[in-house]
Amino acid sequence: MLDHRLDDEYEQLRRTVAEFAKDVIAPAIGELYEKHEFPYRIVREMGRMGLFGLPFPEEYGGMGGDYLALGLVLEELARVDSSVAITLEAGVSLGAMPIFRFGTEEQKRTWLPRLTSGEILGAFGLTEPGGGSDAGATRTTARLDEDTNEWVINGGKCFITNSGTDITGFVTVTAVTGTTATGGKEISTVIVPSGTPGFTVAPPYSKVGWNCSDTRELSFDDCRVPAANLLGERGRGYAQFLSILDEGRVAIAALATGLAQGCVDESVRYAGEREAFGRPIGANQAIAFKLADMELKAHNARLSWRHAASLLVHGERFKKEAAIAKLYSSEIAVDNARDATQIHGGYGFMNEYPVARFWRDAKILEIGEGTSEVQRMLIARELGLPR
Ligand SMILES: Cc1cc2nc3c(=O)[nH]c(=O)nc-3n(C[C@H](O)[C@H](O)[C@H](O)COP(=O)(O)OP(=O)(O)OC[C@H]3O[C@@H](n4cnc5c(N)ncnc54)[C@H](O)[C@@H]3O)c2cc1C
Repeated sequence: MLDHRLDDEYEQLRRTVAEFAKDVIAPAIGELYEKHEFPYRIVREMGRMGLFGLPFPEEYGGMGGDYLALGLVLEELARVDSSVAITLEAGVSLGAMPIFRFGTEEQKRTWLPRLTSGEILGAFGLTEPGGGSDAGATRTTARLDEDTNEWVINGGKCFITNSGTDITGFVTVTAVTGTTATGGKEISTVIVPSGTPGFTVAPPYSKVGWNCSDTRELSFDDCRVPAANLLGERGRGYAQFLSILDEGRVAIAALATGLAQGCVDESVRYAGEREAFGRPIGANQAIAFKLADMELKAHNARLSWRHAASLLVHGERFKKEAAIAKLYSSEIAVDNARDATQIHGGYGFMNEYPVARFWRDAKILEIGEGTSEVQRMLIARELGLPR
């Protein structure tokens, strides 16, 4: 039976995180954002709350939850701040999930308890300077040195989230490990612990937004890791990362919905307070209709990501729905951020107002974890069109 209501435990989680965002993140984030500082204290507190372990089983230190729970949390966090939300999203979906989905029992026991507690963060290295959308274009190589039984990695990755913080434990990277039977690239995934000789992390990028999120360029110069650091099957790296991205899109869609809703929250408040021509600006139909449209978009984005999450949680095919949710929610997040800024007038352009942060943080949502064009390609492919 279709039921739009959340079970009590989900609703309780949502409320707890909403309060945390309001009481702990909101007062601190403006200054951290201005200083481009990684939010270590907030991350530690999220770790204590169990948020990094949400969709993982208790035997690995997780909370035994699922992607619906993760989405609810991300939406509430991004309603207040997206840098914090993406730090959690990347930590869970891109850092820990590949280990959980594809790791050996030993890899899971080594890494998951530290990841699920938030003690360390894992990063996901797919994108290279030569291309992100075309994930198969990987140029980074990993050669198996049979004498030492080690992978020797050479190449570089760019734009990698959570890869250079003080608590980053490793990055999983895709690399070409040979040639397939049909002459194509054999792409595999290898775990590279932070601090491994030959693995260099560049200083943080100067970004348009997500100022408190850690994003770095990585280089590998004869970087050696044990053969046992192969993650999943040799030659399955490309397929593994694509499936991780399908799940990640549900999470990003929830995050984008949160940003879109945060724009509504801030704008409704402001439209009630700000007076022009002797009355609150919200009394003008032009502003009220803009707000109605913003609420409509956030509402539909929420239905869309929750639908994709529901399919995922029930083990059903969710690829198209995840792409729809990611495409729709990211585009309406940009719409709502633009409209919220407009409603705030000149103050909307001042960094001390949350909507200015939302405006700067929205654009990346149409790019990261698959651009809008890539989502349209995925949706069109699922329609069975000729290729
Ligand atoms: C802040 C930030 C954090 C990130 N975090 C990570 C991370 O943790 N790990 C990671 O691996 N990557 C990460 N990325 C990389 C991100 O996923 C890529 O930037 C994204 O996938 C796009 O790849 P690209 O930048 O190489 O653009 P390109 O692939 O070069 O695309 C450029 C433009 O061309 C369009 N395009 C490309 N191919 C087609 C086509 N066939 N048809 C139509 N249009 C097309 C694209 O949609 C885009 O508009 C991050 C990026 C940023 C900015």
